[in-house]
Amino acid sequence: LKNKELFLVDKIRQRAKKQLSPGLRLGIGDDTAILSALPPTQELLITTDLLVEGAHFERRWHPPRALGHKVLARGLSDLAAMGGRPRWALLSLCLPAWVTPAWKKHFFNGLFDLAGKTGVALIGGDLARGERFTADIVVLGECRRGRALRRSAAKTGDSIYVSGLLGGSALGLERLRTGRPRPSDPAVQRHLLPTPRLALGQYLSRHPGVHAALDLSDGLSLDLFRLTRESGVGAEIRVADLPVFPGATLDHALHGGEDYELLFTSRPGLRPPPSAGAVPLTLIGVITSGQKLVLVGADGRRRNLPVKGFEHDL
Ligand SMILES: [Mg+2]
Repeated sequence: LKNKELFLVDKIRQRAKKQLSPGLRLGIGDDTAILSALPPTQELLITTDLLVEGAHFERRWHPPRALGHKVLARGLSDLAAMGGRPRWALLSLCLPAWVTPAWKKHFFNGLFDLAGKTGVALIGGDLARGERFTADIVVLGECRRGRALRRSAAKTGDSIYVSGLLGGSALGLERLRTGRPRPSDPAVQRHLLPTPRLALGQYLSRHPGVHAALDLSDGLSLDLFRLTRESGVGAEIRVADLPVFPGATLDHALHGGEDYELLFTSRPGLRPPPSAGAVPLTLIGVITSGQKLVLVGADGRRRNLPVKGFEHDL
């Protein structure tokens, strides 16, 4: 294993070397990486994300290339939610016996493709043998001092916006589970190759009227609940205004996870452009002073919004 491990680390290192990264003084190969300090106008954002076979994905539905993409995309989406610009990543992998050299190659192709597109340099990590495929990624990024968007900053009366379309990823997962969809099926693409909304997050963080934001990783209802709880407010969402992915149900849109769109609140009447960072923005509701979540049906009837997105039993 040691020789194989060295060989794999060497291959990763060769690829990582091709990445240009200002501020990186020493990358993969020594005991630690070395980064230059950021200029005083900037702040460092750090996030970690764990992806475990069986808990977050099933090997038979996830091609290795898509999985490499998704491991990084999940970390990047958290950074996008705060308005950060990604810079560096560290990746630790637990590799089971079923992982073949070709599988690893495709996995790293997916990861390095997205890293190249988003300006991220892989600067370190670790490898181990184990029973389940597990990937732990740490993503570091930067934003202007004091400008990071938090989920705790929503105010009563704020408009609630969402980017893109909702429910596509849950629909894609359902199709992967129950049938043999075409790989080009847009819902399947949406599930396998999510796009972190980095440009949009950076745009929102520069916009003084935008108050709170988070990324939709576990479903609109659960993530909206998290945002309102952190902000000490409630919310009212209108079914008729939800941008539902073609073919997806209202249930997919309200409770389906892994859309990786951004949910944000802004001062009322702000009217952001209809799209930013090439992603459409939709006004879906309003922040209220109570702590309740209300769903206004297409018929105008109001009921409590049930909170039932994806959560681990811990
Ligand atoms: Mg998040």
